[in-house]
Amino acid sequence: MPPTIGVLALQGDVADHLAALESLSVSTVSVRRRAELDRADAIVIPGGESTTIGKLLQSFGLMDPLRDRLADGMPAYGSCAGMIMLAAEVLDGGDDQRLLSAIDMTVRRNAFGRQVDSFEHDVVLEGMGDEPFRGVFIRAPWVERAGPEVEVVGRVTGGAADGRIVAVRAGSVMATAFHPEITGDARVHRAFVEMVRDSLAGCMATI
Ligand code: GLN
Repeated sequence: MPPTIGVLALQGDVADHLAALESLSVSTVSVRRRAELDRADAIVIPGGESTTIGKLLQSFGLMDPLRDRLADGMPAYGSCAGMIMLAAEVLDGGDDQRLLSAIDMTVRRNAFGRQVDSFEHDVVLEGMGDEPFRGVFIRAPWVERAGPEVEVVGRVTGGAADGRIVAVRAGSVMATAFHPEITGDARVHRAFVEMVRDSLAGCMATI
């Protein structure tokens, strides 16, 4: 059976993630309620606005169930605001920024400067081919601190932000500061789907 991957659908660019996942032959579910979260084997947290996503998670009664699933090892992938949501700590956060604390990292919100709303930059991604990935950054964060268990998967190459960490993985949770769902390059989603399959196969093996 193909895994069912949920896309948190409270706010942000949900449709592009659903389309990217569906092109990889997995089942998807838009997650707004507890029952939808329960059906998902894994979750994608899209970009959008992280303080708003945090407030909506709380008011839809999903914050604690999602934290519990992540603590239980549910695979997750967050892009941009989703990366912020998965972090343990945020710099330049909003007044009541609520986080899911699934990756031991500190991210800086709107790190590339407020005037730089949106730009594209090449990112070299570990284990995803030699071709650099065309990263689309929209008021994006970067990772200021990655904990000892966190694998750095991608950094900006060149320009003023040269070397900044913009893609990470910790166990079966990954995050990117950029938006691969809008470039038509499926490598990040494919890597996530493989991770989900591996994680589910690992769970089956231990039953
Ligand atoms: N700057 C936004 C935030 O802080 C993230 C932007 C995005 O997801 N494109 O949540």
